[in-house]
Amino acid sequence: MILLDGKKLSEEILNEISQEVLERKNKNKKIPHLAAILVGNDGASETYVASKVKNCEKVGFDSTLIRYESSVSESELLQKIYELNLSKDIDGFIVQLPLPKHIDEKKITEAILPNKDVDGFHPMNVGYLALGIPAFVSATPNGVMEMLKRYNIETEGKNCVVLGRSNIVGSPMAMLMSKNTNPGNATVTICHSKTQNLKEITSKADILIVAIGKPEFISADMVKAGAVVVDVGIHRIADETKKSGFRLVGDVKFDEVASKSSYITPVPGGVGLMTICSLLQNTLKAVKNKYDV
Ligand code: NAP
Repeated sequence: MILLDGKKLSEEILNEISQEVLERKNKNKKIPHLAAILVGNDGASETYVASKVKNCEKVGFDSTLIRYESSVSESELLQKIYELNLSKDIDGFIVQLPLPKHIDEKKITEAILPNKDVDGFHPMNVGYLALGIPAFVSATPNGVMEMLKRYNIETEGKNCVVLGRSNIVGSPMAMLMSKNTNPGNATVTICHSKTQNLKEITSKADILIVAIGKPEFISADMVKAGAVVVDVGIHRIADETKKSGFRLVGDVKFDEVASKSSYITPVPGGVGLMTICSLLQNTLKAVKNKYDV
């Protein structure tokens, strides 16, 4: 079994981005500026956004964190989005999801200008992805593709099963794997909560990509021997032996599945770090699209 090491890969990618930023500085070109809007105090969202800001600093990007109380109104949030859309200095921005119930996430996502939508959630970017036109691809599936590419994993003609059909992970993931690209060109099956005989389907997968949001759901008997297993899930579960009182696990029972697979992502240290790299790559792309043509 070979570990798909997101930590090692992300360091490699962050170094490449830093190098490009340095070159831009030397040539007096625009330095990428990413802004993040964080609403409320959700622990996981705080961690994700803090990590995004920290990695911006690491690669030499400018970054701005905009915080709101969870009581913020939808119109106030929309007003900020319009402001960021018009800003000459901000090249790309994200609104950390989930948002409080009184705010319509769809409305917020659609308000972001597609050429600043570095999360790749805007319907126009999703549409471009569906048509195979270069665009901002949702960061997590893009990170998985980058991982498969850098580990030279053969995907052409393989049987790929994607577990989960969310707009931000499962659906774009399945689209990417089915495109006439490398990685890609796989024969893709999408599974969801209404899928019958799940085990029968997953155990035929050469490549199994799991994004269902259920801690340690996938057991060894659901996986084909020698499969490539990508675990997108991330959960905090209580663990009294840890100082923090919790540990992180994925959607896959890592210990038992690892010994059966050819390649597998760990949690933590797998897909999560690739997601942040993709976001930074998208932001760099936004600057290049705007200034380097
Ligand atoms: P989501 O919106 O909750 O979607 C979950 C999907 O899994 C849905 O399509 C659901 O089916 C399907 N599902 C749920 N239970 C199932 C079951 N028993 N059998 C088969 N399918 C089932 O979740 P998400 O936003 O895609 O995220 C998935 C996981 O990835 C979460 O753990 C999340 O924290 C993690 N995540 C990680 C990163 C990262 O950077 N590592 C980024 C994003 C998300 P229905 O459509 O029928 O409801």
